[in-house]
Amino acid sequence: APEEPLLQIENITAGYGAAPVLHDVTLTVPPGAIVAVLGANGAGKTTLLRTVSGLLRPSSGVVRLSGQDLARVPVEHRVRRGMAHVPEGRGVVAELTVDENLRLGGLWRTDRRDARRALDEVYALFDPLARRRGHAGHQLSGGERQMLAIGRALVARPRLLLLDEPSLGLAPRVTAQLMGLLAGLRDDTGLAVLLVEQNVRSALSVADRGVVMSLGRVVRESDAAQLRDDDALRHAYLGF
Ligand code: ATP
Repeated sequence: APEEPLLQIENITAGYGAAPVLHDVTLTVPPGAIVAVLGANGAGKTTLLRTVSGLLRPSSGVVRLSGQDLARVPVEHRVRRGMAHVPEGRGVVAELTVDENLRLGGLWRTDRRDARRALDEVYALFDPLARRRGHAGHQLSGGERQMLAIGRALVARPRLLLLDEPSLGLAPRVTAQLMGLLAGLRDDTGLAVLLVEQNVRSALSVADRGVVMSLGRVVRESDAAQLRDDDALRHAYLGF
């Protein structure tokens, strides 16, 4: 039998007021896959992640994690079910140190020993963070802040990472490094990622699948390699 999707988004319609932003959006994330969500400004990518993480309630449709309908799982419990959201703008606490920020990600965990282990793993993965444990969030570079936000999510040991525009404001070299780390986590730990990116090239460099959104609808879903090679599609929706 085919593997059950880790995340199933089925016919989601959602928005902020009377007029929906998302129209009948359906997509799936298999376990251990990186799925890139692409599309122009305002296509609804951020809104989609907010709907999955529970910050926004859809007016219709279903979101399932490992087959379970999330409608009755409150936002703060979704992380316990294996889902972690790194919002656009990162949400690092500027006044807290790197170490304190990372610990926030594991506060809710009852297995203290494993929370400690997860923290050490994040430091092993993100070398710049290990060297700046005692630095305050506001002292970090943009790339380091992005690592910290992702690291904090990883301390919760998610199966699914919802990642919004991680390349925003980062130098190309740092973005490439970050994408490499995501691919490594997928390959080594089976982490799945729903990756929202304006930076199409870097997203498709690591993604297994790609979803193209336009005006709140999914207009294409296919292997990342096919999207990379589809000139007409890239011109029409992705701007290069
Ligand atoms: P971006 O990369 O600019 O964030 P996006 O594809 O993520 O683009 P969304 O941020 O999801 O797009 O925005 C989709 C639409 O929803 C836009 O028309 C936007 O104006 C609208 N929108 C987003 N946030 C809100 C909000 N809090 N209240 C009302 N409308 C909103």
